[in-house]
Amino acid sequence: MLLENQKNKIIEIGKRIHAEKLVPLTFGNFSVRDFDTGYICITPSGMPYEALTPEDIVVVDIDGNIVDGKRRPSIETGLHCAVYKKRPEVGSVVHTHSTFVTAWASCNKEIPSIVAEVAALVSGKIKCAPYRPCGSKELAEVTSDCLGEDDAVLLGNHGVLVVGKDIDTAYINAVIVEEGAKVAYYAQNIGGMRILDEKECAYERESAKKGYGQI
Ligand SMILES: [Zn+2]
Repeated sequence: MLLENQKNKIIEIGKRIHAEKLVPLTFGNFSVRDFDTGYICITPSGMPYEALTPEDIVVVDIDGNIVDGKRRPSIETGLHCAVYKKRPEVGSVVHTHSTFVTAWASCNKEIPSIVAEVAALVSGKIKCAPYRPCGSKELAEVTSDCLGEDDAVLLGNHGVLVVGKDIDTAYINAVIVEEGAKVAYYAQNIGGMRILDEKECAYERESAKKGYGQI
C-alpha cells in the first residue's frame, strides 16, 4: 500500500485528537506530507474517526489531484495544499474546531501570547484570518497568507489550523493552542492580563526554532 506508515500515523493521531475532544463528530482534518514523493496523505471527507482504516486515507499531489484512495478527500484539501506550497519545511497540517480557539475565532479576535508555549509558535500572537466559506479557494488563500511563517492561525468564525514538521509536532501544537486560548479566556476574565512583550515573544520563538528537548 502506498505510504502505509503515514496513513496509519494519521489514523492514530486522528483518533487521539477526537478522543481528547479537540474535534467534535467528524469535524476537522489532518494531513501528512511525504518528503520523498511530495505526496500528501489526508483524511477523507465526513467519516467518523473511530472507524478509519488505512484504505480510507486519500493520497493527493500538491495540487490536490487524487493519486491513490477510493474515498473523497477532505473538503479542505485545497487549504492543506496551499499551506504545503507556501511552507516547504512543513510536514503536517492539522485543522480542528476545538472549543476555546473557535470561540476566539468567532469573535475574529487574535489570541495574545501570555504563556511561553504559545509565543514559541507564532510571531507575537495567533492571528485570525477573515471568514471565507468552508472548502473554498478563498479560504485556502486568506488562511495560508495569514499563517505566514507562524505555526498556528485562527480561521474566522470557523476554527484553527496548525502546522508542524511532522504530525506528532502538529498534534502537540494543536493542544498548546487550545490550552493557550483557554488560559487567555480565563485570564481576560480575571482582569489585568499581562501580555508578553515583543522581546519576550521573539526570544521564545527563536528558542523554539533552534530546537527544544533531547538531542
Ligand atoms: Zn473546519
